[in-house]
This record gives sequence, structure tokens and C-alpha cells, in this order.
Amino acid sequence: MAVFINEECINCAACADECPNMAIVDNDKNPSGADIFFVLENKCTECDGGEMACISVCPSDAIHKR
Ligand code: SF4
Repeated sequence: MAVFINEECINCAACADECPNMAIVDNDKNPSGADIFFVLENKCTECDGGEMACISVCPSDAIHKR
């Protein structure tokens, strides 16, 4: 259970600052090598069913549920 970030990401960092679980890493730490932010599946809880902080703040609509 985790959201993912797609190629619409503009590396603004808004999502990483909002995540209560520190589940989002920046483009330099993206394990896929893509130059976009990345959600760590083992840390994201989809905000336990509440409003997802990262999706709310993303200006690019780049964060999605699977
Ligand atoms: S859905 Fe919530 S827990 Fe998951 S990455 Fe976004 S802010 Fe973090």
C-alpha cells in the first residue's frame, strides 16, 4: 500500500516536506535512477486512509494511488 510518483514530477519537494512518514526521497536518492522524487513503499501508509498529504500539495498532479 503506497502511492507512486510519475514523470510529471518537477522536483519541487513539496510532497517530501509534508509526508508524516518520511516516505518520499528526492531525485538524487531515487533507487530507479529516474530524475524525479520517489515514494518508499515500505514507509508509505497512504496516510492510513486519511487525506494523503503528498497528493494534496503536489502542484503537478504527479502522485497517484496504484
Ligand atoms: S500518502 Fe501519506 S504516507 Fe504516503 S507518501 Fe504520501 S504523505 Fe507520505
